Amino acid sequence: MTRPLTIVMYHYVRDLKRSRFPGIKGLSLERFHRQLDYIQTHYTPITAEDLFEALSTPKRDLPPNPILLTFDDGYSDHFSNVFPLLDARGIGGCFFPPAQAILEHRVLDVNKIQFVLATIPDAGALLEQVFSSLAEFRSEHALKSREEYLLTVSGEHRYDTREVTVLKRLLQRELPEPVRAEIVRRLFAEHVTADEEAFACELYMSVDQIACLRRHGMHIGSHGYAHAWLNHISPQAQVIEIDRSLTFLGEFGIGKDEWTMCYPYGGFNDSLLRVLRDRQCRLGFTVEARTADLDVDDRLTLPRLDTNDLPS
Ligand SMILES: [Zn+2]
Repeated sequence: MTRPLTIVMYHYVRDLKRSRFPGIKGLSLERFHRQLDYIQTHYTPITAEDLFEALSTPKRDLPPNPILLTFDDGYSDHFSNVFPLLDARGIGGCFFPPAQAILEHRVLDVNKIQFVLATIPDAGALLEQVFSSLAEFRSEHALKSREEYLLTVSGEHRYDTREVTVLKRLLQRELPEPVRAEIVRRLFAEHVTADEEAFACELYMSVDQIACLRRHGMHIGSHGYAHAWLNHISPQAQVIEIDRSLTFLGEFGIGKDEWTMCYPYGGFNDSLLRVLRDRQCRLGFTVEARTADLDVDDRLTLPRLDTNDLPS
């Protein structure tokens, strides 16, 4: 490896023990502090701009053991907990807020599922609830049998049990969109809260907070509009998703020449990459868990380690 770059991704960073949902899978503030200490001892944090320059012609050198920190999903954790620490330590970060959640105060289905699971830890029982609710949708939607759905999810997930993996797959992707949206809506309303708007305002950053991050030198990039699996939608829908997210970035004064993409769920395909190249996307971040090699990796499909892959 000649030009290695470690890119790390973060999601929730919060004082889990003292939060209303201690069951949420996230990084505690204490561990985040320790991880920043580790990073500053063993690596040199760089910014998105440093990476732009390292990939431009002529190439600029990066410092020894470079590392780039990325934060997905626009959580208010990132403004309240992450930003003050990065700012105090002089570290730049890249933040990827999903536009719809921020603008429309809607909780992403992926987050609804996480908070349902944090409230009802028995994933087996939730899975039964989902399977039994499918009956009422069968007349209007071509649904598979329970056994077929179980078969569509094979293999292991890095951090989840099999029941949790099946539940997430069904509710995030396998079931037809209207069916899963309705089931997730009901589970969230029943087990977490009926006031989605208030919950969204607590969970995600506001437009003003994102603007504040940018004013303080943090990088803000695209995480799509509706946080879709971009490799599972049509090329036309990909164009709409990307262009709507670019309009969102434009509201923060982020130019078309400095935009980056972080693929929701790490999902991308050739037609999406064509859309990004066409719009001069500078960098694309996946969830392939390894260190990047800037001499080898495509700048639009850069791998990232999870925070759990580093000591903390
Ligand atoms: Zn995401």
